[in-house]
Amino acid sequence: MMPITTDKSIYDKTGRLRFCSIDKFVSDICEGDHCFICGRHPSKVPFNREHVIPNWLLRNVNIHSGNIQLPNGRLHRYGSYTIPCCTECNTGLAEHFEKPISEAFGKGFSGLSALVEREGTERLFQWMALLFVKMHLKDKTLLQNPDTRLGRFYISDGYDWSTFHHMHCLARAHYSGAKIGKYVHGSMLFVEVGENSEDEFFDIATVSSAYSLYIRVKDIAIYTVFDDSGICLEAVEPVLSRITGVMNSAQARELAAELAAANIHLKNPPSFGTRSSNADGDDLEIIALPPEGNAEFFAKSNNAIGHIKRSVLGSFCQATADHTREEALELLGSNEYSFLFNSEGVFVTGGDKEDLQPVRSEWSAI
Ligand SMILES: [Zn+2]
Repeated sequence: MMPITTDKSIYDKTGRLRFCSIDKFVSDICEGDHCFICGRHPSKVPFNREHVIPNWLLRNVNIHSGNIQLPNGRLHRYGSYTIPCCTECNTGLAEHFEKPISEAFGKGFSGLSALVEREGTERLFQWMALLFVKMHLKDKTLLQNPDTRLGRFYISDGYDWSTFHHMHCLARAHYSGAKIGKYVHGSMLFVEVGENSEDEFFDIATVSSAYSLYIRVKDIAIYTVFDDSGICLEAVEPVLSRITGVMNSAQARELAAELAAANIHLKNPPSFGTRSSNADGDDLEIIALPPEGNAEFFAKSNNAIGHIKRSVLGSFCQATADHTREEALELLGSNEYSFLFNSEGVFVTGGDKEDLQPVRSEWSAI
């Protein structure tokens, strides 16, 4: 029998890493160079590179040579936006996630709906967790500022890796065989959005501190909060019910900010763990420990919401006859600007025409 290791990781009889402990995740994967799925070292098994944004998706939106905007505001070429992964796990990821999901995406929103109808949302939820984990692991190699005269600082320097452990457990559940327990599935929302100009076919935004990820591929927008047991989706219901038309790029991003803001306002979030019936990792299950009683939220902080909105929507702010770009950013940062709603909380229509000018509004979910 494989013993449970000192760091509480669990291997089965064949040596497969079933449960990757927080300590192992941080030391071997986040701070080390082990495979982020199986935990094996490059000296033991062959490695190649895994695209952070899958290759099929890059081809689908025809941006293989385009750029992704990083959390530090700089651009990185999609095609070389990769992280190391062992070849076996790379193949496993392609089979479990990329093949069925690319087939669904290839048929647009109706293809995605058919996938969800056929098998539910678990695979997509775990795929979004995989994207979240890959994006943050990539940040280990990306400089905050390429001018290193004042030192080499990486985007990931501020991360507390241990807080990403739950997303890691979700992302590798297909490998570990862990069942997704009750209340483990977080908020997930699929929205059909407008297909705009050709260079607007793809968008991705993560709010690390809110454990949330938004992705848009042509007419498909997917929103995920990983650690809220679905509570934030209920919290943004007042926002959702007022979205009465097709959203443009900025509006779709604002909804992502609303979901993320809801999560950082959650006062009594659930916690998560993994259990197993024996030391071999049999009956492995990711479990949620929901809070007692109803979900509670902190008093609404416009600065906290505005901070998220500014980071997610800042690039959409432009100077107008009424204000400079800096003034617009400041209003956005204090949550006094909205792309979604006017000051009465009414949806700003014509979204598909890409009217990017925000209107002054104090409307917000929380
Ligand atoms: Zn591997």
